[in-house]
Amino acid sequence: MRDVIVIGLGAMGSAAALHLARAGADVLALDRFGPGHGRGSSHGATRVIRRVYAEGEIYMPLLGRAYALWAAMERDSGQTFLNACGGLDIGPEGGALVRTALKTAEDHAIAHETLDAAAIMARFPALRVPKGMAGVFAPQSGQLFSGAANAWMRETAEAAGAELRWNEAVTGWRRSGKSLSVATARGETRCRKLVIAAGPWTGLLLPSLDPHLAVERQVTGWFTPPPRRARDFANMPVFQADPPGGERFYFLPPAGGMGVKAGLYGHLGERGAAMRRGRMPDEADAALLRRGLRKWLPGADGPPQKLQQCRFTRTADDRFIIGLWPDDPDVAVLSPCSGHGYKFAPAIGEAAAGLALERDSAVDLAPFSVERVLGG
Ligand SMILES: Cc1cc2nc3c(=O)[nH]c(=O)nc-3n(C[C@H](O)[C@H](O)[C@H](O)COP(=O)(O)OP(=O)(O)OC[C@H]3O[C@@H](n4cnc5c(N)ncnc54)[C@H](O)[C@@H]3O)c2cc1C
Repeated sequence: MRDVIVIGLGAMGSAAALHLARAGADVLALDRFGPGHGRGSSHGATRVIRRVYAEGEIYMPLLGRAYALWAAMERDSGQTFLNACGGLDIGPEGGALVRTALKTAEDHAIAHETLDAAAIMARFPALRVPKGMAGVFAPQSGQLFSGAANAWMRETAEAAGAELRWNEAVTGWRRSGKSLSVATARGETRCRKLVIAAGPWTGLLLPSLDPHLAVERQVTGWFTPPPRRARDFANMPVFQADPPGGERFYFLPPAGGMGVKAGLYGHLGERGAAMRRGRMPDEADAALLRRGLRKWLPGADGPPQKLQQCRFTRTADDRFIIGLWPDDPDVAVLSPCSGHGYKFAPAIGEAAAGLALERDSAVDLAPFSVERVLGG
């Protein structure tokens, strides 16, 4: 009998396995694919982290905890996982995105500056920002080296005693008396607690949750500015831009030999079960991302260096799920991510370990409950 089985070894399951193993639990973690595979939501080298949060106040305690844990991970590993190159939230002056970002900064005493369009372009020459737009700049925002961080979390979980098994899909789980039973092609394994961190496949393991989750195809692209513009891009911050009635693009600076990374929330609007598989990126994906580059970073517009498919798993309110399964309090459910969960991974993993080990959480998890999604 295991203390805890974790289903899924993306960012959230890896972080959960790490915190559980470090707390002394006997952990088995299973993934249907191999380490670092590209079929879920956590693959690739980089992700954005923003210290002010235009998505709202409810995320701030979890975000503060995540920053503390990213710093602890850097201390433990001797690696750099967070490049604090600064981050901008750009929207219409006085609009909701700028107002909310500003309020989270002020309420939580986060270092920030408000810049108008001209000031943004003077400081960051790679960016083009229309008049009437403003940005909240947070110097502690930046990019996370997610590929390296995921690998470190997996390795450190194993070193702390967790057993990680790859290419072993969980086909079902059930209550079996006082314990739970988890089935794979290798047979059934019993455990006291279960953590489900299955990303886009969560609804297959929890069918009553499935209608409340939308799996959405995303494509990110990398675009290399010409060498004559390299200096303009050297100090580029991460940023998202939300023009009136428009498309919310996000961009990350060049890193690790790759060019500017570009993405669009919602992308082509392709949703549904078929998006678990998705389809290979094509010209239409590249054209969409280049539209964003032409508008916000014209110096990086050109043929993509690389396109990569990924998946968002969205709830109706775009909030995460971090909570106990209402029908069985020995089961914790993690983070259908709604496309912005990565930066919180260490804090979500810690919260999951707390739920499974029945310990008090460092942050209030009520805004992320399963019940709110199920409508209970
Ligand atoms: C294109 C893109 C860009 C993003 N950018 C950002 C960003 O800049 N900043 C940010 O904060 N967030 C970002 N996100 C969101 C973030 O990456 C996700 O929130 C996070 O990676 C979700 O991790 P996860 O572990 O929940 O899911 P996943 O990474 O999908 O992991 C789930 C795992 O469960 C396994 N699994 C599923 N079913 C089973 C089963 N039955 N048995 C065994 N294993 C199973 C899968 O194989 C998979 O490995 C982005 C997401 C995408 C797609």
